[in-house]
Amino acid sequence: MVAESRNRISVIGTGYLGATHAACMAELGFEVLGLDVDPTKIESLSAGRVPFYEPGLEEVLTRNLASGRLRFTSDYAEVAAFADVHFLCVGTPQRADSNAADLSFVEAAVDSLAPLLDHPSIIIGKSTVPVGTAERLAKRIAALAPAGAEVELGWSPEFLREGFGVEDTLRPNRIVVGTDSPRVEAAMRRLCAPQLEQGIPFLVTDLATAELVKVSANAFLATKISFINAMAEVSEAAGADVIKLAEALSYDDRIGGKFLGPGLGFGGGCLPKDIRAFMARADELGVEPALSFLREVDAINQRRRARTVDIARGLIGGSFAGRTVGVLGAAFKPNSDDIRDSPALDVASTIASLGAVVTVYDPEALERAKREHPDLRYAHSMLEAARDAEVVLLLTEWAEFRDADPDELAKVVAEPRIVDGRNALDPQYWRSRGWTYRALGRP
Ligand code: NAD
Repeated sequence: MVAESRNRISVIGTGYLGATHAACMAELGFEVLGLDVDPTKIESLSAGRVPFYEPGLEEVLTRNLASGRLRFTSDYAEVAAFADVHFLCVGTPQRADSNAADLSFVEAAVDSLAPLLDHPSIIIGKSTVPVGTAERLAKRIAALAPAGAEVELGWSPEFLREGFGVEDTLRPNRIVVGTDSPRVEAAMRRLCAPQLEQGIPFLVTDLATAELVKVSANAFLATKISFINAMAEVSEAAGADVIKLAEALSYDDRIGGKFLGPGLGFGGGCLPKDIRAFMARADELGVEPALSFLREVDAINQRRRARTVDIARGLIGGSFAGRTVGVLGAAFKPNSDDIRDSPALDVASTIASLGAVVTVYDPEALERAKREHPDLRYAHSMLEAARDAEVVLLLTEWAEFRDADPDELAKVVAEPRIVDGRNALDPQYWRSRGWTYRALGRP
C-alpha cells in the first residue's frame, strides 16, 4: 500500500503514554502528529514543554520538534489527512459509579477520527481496555468510516513504566499486536523495525488475547506486591522481619526479587483501576470467581494505607488532633509527578482529616498535589516539611529521601520519630542517630 509506506503516524491523546509515544516514534525517524482535546497540553508540547515529569522526555521532545518530524494539533481533520497509522492513547480511568473502565474517551476518539478516514488507514489501540473492547470498536469504526474506506483496527497494549517511559518505549521488553489482518501486522512490523532489529520479542495474537496480556500483566504485578504486603502483615503479628523474608524469597529464581518490596503498596493511574476493571469485566463474562482473588489483592493494598496511619498515630500517643506531621512524598512513586490514587496523599489526607496539621514535600509532584489536596500544607524542601513535626512519614521513596541525613532532620523536628512507609531507610542507622524508627512488616 503506497500511502502506508509514508511512515506518517498520529498519536491520539498526548498524556503520559501518548506524549512519550509520539516523541519516541519521532526519535526513531517517523513523522508524527500528536493530537489532544486539551488545548493547554497541545500548546505546552508544541512549545517543547512536557506538561508532566518524565526523565529524559523533554530532550527527546525538543530535539524532534526542531527536526520537524514532530508536531501537535487539536484538529482531527489534520490528523486524518496526515497519517496512515493512528495510535490511540487516550485515558481509560475507573468510572465514577463502578469499578469498570470508563471507555467514553476511547469511543469519543474513534467517533471523531473514523468518519474522516478517506484513505486506507490503520488504527492501533494502545490504551488499556477491558477484553472485548477492540472487537466492539472495530464494528463502530466500520459503521462510521466513509463507504469503501479501508480502515482496520489492531490492539498493541503499552507496558511502559512512568519514570522509565523513554527507555521503555525505545526498548520495550516485548511488543504484542492483536490483529488477524496481514496489513495491520505488516504496518506494525515496519513501525517496530528499530525494536525488531534489537531482537525484542514481537508477538502477534488475536484482539482479545492482546487486550488480556496487558490487564493480566498488571494483575500479576499487583498480586506480587500484595503478596509480600500480606507477608508483612503476618510478619508484624509474628515479630518477623519481612525485608529479610523478601530477600530470602528473591534468591529463588522461580519467584524473583522484582515487585517484592513490602511497604505502603501500589497506586497510580494503572494498577488499582486496571485490577478493578478486570474484575468488573470477569463479572460481565460470567467468570467472576476466576478473579475474586484480586478483591483480596486490592483489600491488602488498601489495608497498608490504614496500617501506616495507625503506626504514626501510635507513635504520637494515640491521637492526631492538633499534632504536627511532616510527610515526605506525594507522587504515587518516585521519578514521577503522577498523583493519581497516590498512597502517599491518601495517607496524608487521612491524617489531616483526623485533626493533624500535615505538611507535604515532594520533589516533583507539589503543584499537582496542591490542586487536588487543598486540605494539606506544602513545603519546598524536606527540612521545611519536617520542621516542628512530631512524626515524619516517608511515603514515596525518592532518592532524596533515601539519602536523607538523620542528623540534619533531627535538628528541625519536634521529636525524632519516623515512619518509613517504603522500607527505604536503614533502621539500625536511624535508631543509632536517636530516632524512633517504625516500618511496615518489621519488628
Ligand atoms: P492521561 O490521562 O495522562 O492521558 C490521556 C490523554 O487523552 C489526555 O491528555 C486527554 O486530554 C486525552 N484525551 C481524552 N479524550 C480525548 C479525545 N477524545 N481525543 C483526543 N485526546 C483525548 O493518561 P495516560 O496515563 O497517558 O494513560 C492513557 C492510557 O494508557 C490508559 O488506558 C492507561 O491505562 C494506559 N497506560 C498508561 C501507562 C502509564 O504509565 N501512564 C502505561 C501503560 C498504559
